[in-house]
Amino acid sequence: PRLANQIAAGEVVERPASVIKELLENSLDAGASRIDIDVEQGGIKRLQVRDNGSGIHADDLPLALSRHATSKILTLEDLEAVASLGFRGEALASVSSVSRLVLTSRAEGAEHAFRVIAEGRDMATEVSPAAHPQGTTVEVRDLFFNTPARRKFLRTDKTEYGHLEEVVRRLALSRFDVGFTLRHNQKVSLSLSPARTELEREKRIGQLCGSAFLQQSVVVDINNGPLRLHGWVGLPTFSRSQQDQQYFFVNGRVIRDRLVAHAIRQAYQDVLYNGRHPVFVLYLYVDPAVVDVNVHPTKHEVRFRDGRLVHDFIFSSLHRALAEVRP
Ligand code: ADP
Ligand code: MG
Repeated sequence: PRLANQIAAGEVVERPASVIKELLENSLDAGASRIDIDVEQGGIKRLQVRDNGSGIHADDLPLALSRHATSKILTLEDLEAVASLGFRGEALASVSSVSRLVLTSRAEGAEHAFRVIAEGRDMATEVSPAAHPQGTTVEVRDLFFNTPARRKFLRTDKTEYGHLEEVVRRLALSRFDVGFTLRHNQKVSLSLSPARTELEREKRIGQLCGSAFLQQSVVVDINNGPLRLHGWVGLPTFSRSQQDQQYFFVNGRVIRDRLVAHAIRQAYQDVLYNGRHPVFVLYLYVDPAVVDVNVHPTKHEVRFRDGRLVHDFIFSSLHRALAEVRP
């Protein structure tokens, strides 16, 4: 079965950034409000995610590293989703089959913490006691140490770290309620406390996108029935800088969509007569009971049944917000 894991790993684990994505999603699924990420040499040498979520019971620890042992499929509907989206419950198994992985956890209400270790295809079946507050730490060392062909596809530490940081940035932009720290080679590169007020949210945007972006952007916040658009759009003065950040979230998930991109670009060029691509962090909230919306949970795809409605809403909202600040 560990060999099957290694094969499956080809689909899930491409580089340190994809490992971090899976680990962070697990932490968020576990209800963590604080996540600390520690990375060495772009994540190739070592990456670690520690959370204060609900934790894993000692009995379930070895299970968490075995393939298709998800604790998250509860209903037939979920199973149908699995059929269309591919298997879940294999991320940890896959990662552990191509690295040296230590999983330490203390479940909510448990008196002690325990850990389980896996090294490539070998996995210790023993669970040993450990010291850990409530929550979970996953440490992944020497990614692809046993699959040299795969290792060759990794780029420099700097490039790999860049991808990894981008994953963290996106999640931090989508979960203001969660505190994050990110360290690379002992150096703190992000330290974000949970943001609840508007002021705190702005502070986080400044930390993630730069204070220049905050100062040279328009705040958008427009409601129309089942649709709400909220966020920041950089003014042309800012767009002239080096930055090229475009983030669009639909119901909390980052997506890339031609229809959305078109609506934003149109509004921007219409009002500001600027041929450049705007910089933005925008959140679209759609009431799924009214507007049929399907956000792919693993890819960055979205499908609206009424695309025209959504396109026109984004276009007119931005048009309005930008027109107010037209120089
Ligand atoms: P999936 O997330 O699809 O269920 P994973 O391989 O990512 O599959 O994780 C396997 C299982 O391990 C999860 O279903 C969950 O029960 C447990 N698990 C993993 N990471 C955490 C975490 N940080 N906190 C609590 N439980 C976790
Ligand atoms: Mg998972």
